Amino acid sequence: MLDLRSEVQEIWSELQPTVERVLRSGHFVGGPEVEEFEREAAAYLGARHALGLNSGTDALVLGLEALGVGPGDEVVTTPFSFFATSEAVLRLGATPVFVDVVEESLNLDPELLERAITSRTKAILPVHIFGLPANMSALMAVADKHGVPVLEDCAQAFGAKHEGRRVGTFGALGAFSFYPTKNLGAYGDGGLITTNDDAHAHKLRSLRNHGSSPLNKYLHEDLGHNSRLDALQAAVLRLKLRKLDAWDARRQERARAYRAALAGLPTGPDGLTLPPDRPEHRYHQFTLRLAPKRREAFELGLRQRGVAFSRFYPSPLTRQPAGAHFGEAPVAEGACERVVSVPIHPWLPDEAIGLVAEAARAAF
Ligand SMILES: *Cc1c(COP(=O)(O)O)cnc(C)c1O
Repeated sequence: MLDLRSEVQEIWSELQPTVERVLRSGHFVGGPEVEEFEREAAAYLGARHALGLNSGTDALVLGLEALGVGPGDEVVTTPFSFFATSEAVLRLGATPVFVDVVEESLNLDPELLERAITSRTKAILPVHIFGLPANMSALMAVADKHGVPVLEDCAQAFGAKHEGRRVGTFGALGAFSFYPTKNLGAYGDGGLITTNDDAHAHKLRSLRNHGSSPLNKYLHEDLGHNSRLDALQAAVLRLKLRKLDAWDARRQERARAYRAALAGLPTGPDGLTLPPDRPEHRYHQFTLRLAPKRREAFELGLRQRGVAFSRFYPSPLTRQPAGAHFGEAPVAEGACERVVSVPIHPWLPDEAIGLVAEAARAAF
């Protein structure tokens, strides 16, 4: 699905001195490299604070904790995401309340949001799925009307913009993942949380480091976590952040090549549905939709041609045995029956796109 060896090859001459700089610095967890990355990420995203963490999952858990989410609370979220989104809610003893997605974007539907809000709603947790921003202006209008804070799950959408502003700066908090397969990936685990609020930033600094007071490391104000970004990952991320816009432009160019190669196939309910064609899409995934029988034929064709593919996601979060839930999600459930993601990344060769198109034509 992704060619990280080509990525490493492209930046090898810059990676070597970067890694050497960290190893010779003697700082491995936190320290100046992490602080520089936090400053650069905050400036790029347009957020007042950006704090490095262990993972995107931790960014969600610590973010919800900073908003005071706990047992008995409800968090309104999307059923169409990776499990970490609802897992973070469940981990805190709170209940995920699922609101269905928009058919076209597969992002949380702002029109359905309002009726899911109750007196127990402590937070709203939208996801920018596959690198396409959710409709944040519409979601924030509902959230603000009810005075409920928003935590954005930006794990798949670092740098993506909605109405000219980067995701992770609309809600009270933004959670990011640097898992190696993300558009901005580290060479190990890593995460980030953004906020414009000084009090949230103060709380999160403490939560990521055992609840320590910033003034006295051995005074523990809260029960916290060990969730810190290490210096090697921060240094790699600083290097890759400078490449991100150009690499995402190559993803967008590859998406255009897919559209040209797949042109002329049947569309509509029995045909092939392409991802939304919008300039803000950062194509973390290139996700096609086909009727279940055709999807099987398409996947068989891909397998025969040696092309990787994956069903993101095979079932909605309303159907996970690990979590009790509220809410119906017919659109998300229908999408799970039809989705199949094909490879997209800056090094994807034309031949791969040709093979995907061949497999699609064979399926019809
Ligand atoms: C990857 C991902 C996460 C979790 O990030 P990790 O860094 O792997 O913990 C959370 N939410 C979504 C939508 C993701 O894609």
